[in-house]
Amino acid sequence: MQTEDGSARDQRGASGEGMLRPIYIQNSRLPGILSLFTPVRLWSFTIPPFTFCEETLDDATIQHEMIHMRQWLELGIVGFVLLYSGLWALNVLRGMNKYEAYFYNPMEHEACIHESDAGYLVSRPAWAWLKYLGGKRNG
Ligand SMILES: [Zn+2]
Repeated sequence: MQTEDGSARDQRGASGEGMLRPIYIQNSRLPGILSLFTPVRLWSFTIPPFTFCEETLDDATIQHEMIHMRQWLELGIVGFVLLYSGLWALNVLRGMNKYEAYFYNPMEHEACIHESDAGYLVSRPAWAWLKYLGGKRNG
């Protein structure tokens, strides 16, 4: 895009605008259908290159799903699915209920904590979810 003075405008805004984004599929029935097989009810989810949402995506959900998109890119599809489900199961084995196990999954924990953090995607280091490993211990 050209500005009035003819210089190229930086496309990477503070919200991560211009970065690799999923293709948004809104008003989708897939989150409800997938929820039949997941321990918590899904409202939106990302499987690159798509983000599916049961209703209309708000800014926080878009950022949440873009954080997951980065995690997918770091781990690959098989790595993400295996690690995400394995870490959820490990949390259950550690004594958490299914909601705690979901939130304290390090990938989910990173996305939830930073979903309203403007600029996070610009400054986020690669593999940032590792920081949330073992985020809550039972007892
Ligand atoms: Zn999530």
